[in-house]
Amino acid sequence: MKTFFTVEMVVGFIESGFGFIKEKYLMMKKLKPLFIENSRVPVWLSKVAPIEIYALSFGVFVWCRFLLSPTTKRHETIHFQQQLELAFVGQWILYVLFWLVGFVIYRGDGRKAYYESPFEREAYANDHDKEYLENRPRYNWVRYIIKGSQNAEEKTKTKD
Ligand SMILES: [Zn+2]
Repeated sequence: MKTFFTVEMVVGFIESGFGFIKEKYLMMKKLKPLFIENSRVPVWLSKVAPIEIYALSFGVFVWCRFLLSPTTKRHETIHFQQQLELAFVGQWILYVLFWLVGFVIYRGDGRKAYYESPFEREAYANDHDKEYLENRPRYNWVRYIIKGSQNAEEKTKTKD
């Protein structure tokens, strides 16, 4: 009986498929958001937020009041990567949920609830590390759910 596909062809096909997925996966790690500097958006949001916001990451955009420092850029890019991992909307929902849980745990201290969110713990703990985004394991924020506070508030002042 004549076969159209050899084992080598099938294996080669599967391998190239995995190669393609791996390549796309590695490309995602390099993706950065679009930075919009000197924006009024953080100023308006600060009126309703528990902290004074200088920069925030939402979807593919990052708005900043002034020019972004390399540390803030990394901080916001970490949030961008967290959003990618949760198809954006999942991160927004979890972000609010973690804040609400923190608000209860820390007895109505909205500021503390913000700093103790695993998304912020990860971002503040690593935004000074120039290599972090290249080496960051996927879903690394999960580790910060149980990991104690990094004293983020003392290390850095208000950012989203
Ligand atoms: Zn943040």
